[in-house]
Amino acid sequence: MTIYDIIIVGSGPAGLGAAFELLSVKPDAKILLLEREKVSSGGLRNDCKMNFTWPIGFPSEYWERDNSSRYLARVEEFLKPEILPQKNLTTYQKRATRIGVELLMIRQSHLGTDGGLRLIRELLAQLSAAGVEVCLEEEFLSADRRTKTARTNMREVGYDQLIVAPGRHGFDFLRRFMKENEIPYTDNSIDVGVRVETRIEHYPIVRDYYDPKFIFPERTRTFCTNSGAAHVVQEKYVAANGQTYYSVNGHAYSHEKPSNGLVNFAVLRSVEFTQPLASGQDYAEFLASLAMLTGGGHPIMQRIGDFRMGKRTTHEGLNDDLYDFEPSLPSCTPGDISLAMPAKFLRSIWKALKQLDTIVPGVLHPSTILYYPEIKLYANKPQFIDEYFMASDSIYLIGDGAGTSRGITGAWASGIRAADGIKRRKGW
Ligand SMILES: Cc1cc2nc3c(=O)[nH]c(=O)nc-3n(C[C@H](O)[C@H](O)[C@H](O)COP(=O)(O)OP(=O)(O)OC[C@H]3O[C@@H](n4cnc5c(N)ncnc54)[C@H](O)[C@@H]3O)c2cc1C
Repeated sequence: MTIYDIIIVGSGPAGLGAAFELLSVKPDAKILLLEREKVSSGGLRNDCKMNFTWPIGFPSEYWERDNSSRYLARVEEFLKPEILPQKNLTTYQKRATRIGVELLMIRQSHLGTDGGLRLIRELLAQLSAAGVEVCLEEEFLSADRRTKTARTNMREVGYDQLIVAPGRHGFDFLRRFMKENEIPYTDNSIDVGVRVETRIEHYPIVRDYYDPKFIFPERTRTFCTNSGAAHVVQEKYVAANGQTYYSVNGHAYSHEKPSNGLVNFAVLRSVEFTQPLASGQDYAEFLASLAMLTGGGHPIMQRIGDFRMGKRTTHEGLNDDLYDFEPSLPSCTPGDISLAMPAKFLRSIWKALKQLDTIVPGVLHPSTILYYPEIKLYANKPQFIDEYFMASDSIYLIGDGAGTSRGITGAWASGIRAADGIKRRKGW
């Protein structure tokens, strides 16, 4: 059986951050990088906008400002992003402050989906050239922490240190992994909301600030804005009960591609459950299945004009008097979001949208489309035994799947931090 110094599961930013950091101090380390897909499936591949200002992408329970800023500087030094200019924001800021909303000023870069794919290929090629065994389409299945062996869909291998970074799609996998390895965990918060799509003319702030981050009252915020050649997409998930559901999301291509004149962004509300509900994730999956039920197996879309009048959107209505642009995700079912979204979320999100319309007048144009559901699950929080995300002897759990990040840069920083832990333990 081959034995590796380090096995890294997942070629998303968390896994890559760890791999590059470890190589930088131990170029002869025997590293295996396992990726179950043909290419990394996370945000590096989708839109690839990167935020370089705390707290975006850095969950507060693990990251304080000073610590995050130090790690962010290391991420930036490695990735060398081209930071986008921001301009003409004073008026928006004043309007926001007046109504109790905050506009966060975040340093950002944007590669687009095509640019992200190029970056992933370059990074994987660099790792291979440096001697890392990069195995695409090989799935990590389980590990035995006593014998320090890992099982994939192809073989059994030994490890000295194991870093597991399976991303958000790996939520169920990670829960099972923690149970099998007796790693205690607690429930995490969830985000539920809508994706808004409109013409750039109705949300012109994006010409001056690529991904404007508005923080509204009631734990509600804008998230992941995409514009230019921008598309709403759906991601397929399998719930713990085996049912399939879709969550919408968005991405855009780089500026090399012709613009379709559209912008999309999410408005999300976070909740955390206590007693008697055991799992926020189960609740989120239940909401998603309700959305699938009302949408006939697809996400729902509704024009703002219809939403305001309390009536459903229909196929005919989409092309009728409210017609302004073709939805970029036409496979969604025109319907009524309020049939599927609980009032607590709906009220906060609608209130936030009205505030946003006061700050950027026009975003609630009758033709604007709301897509539902957009759900963000963060895996149950492992109980870490050190500050480097070690969850069991020699096993590190990092990235969005383990709840140590909520974005590309936070995930990359988590990878560096786990690598720092390994460096300390091994004296590298
Ligand atoms: C459509 C979309 C757009 C996004 N856009 C942005 C954005 O523009 N900016 C931003 O900051 N964030 C964005 N995000 C969020 C971003 O993807 C995550 O924050 C980030 O990628 C998390 O990194 P990660 O390494 O933890 O997980 P991921 O990037 O999800 O990587 C995990 C990898 O592990 C692999 N994997 C999972 N299980 C196994 C297994 N058992 N064996 C082997 N491999 C496995 C997966 O295939 C995947 O490639 C987006 C997410 C999505 C879904």
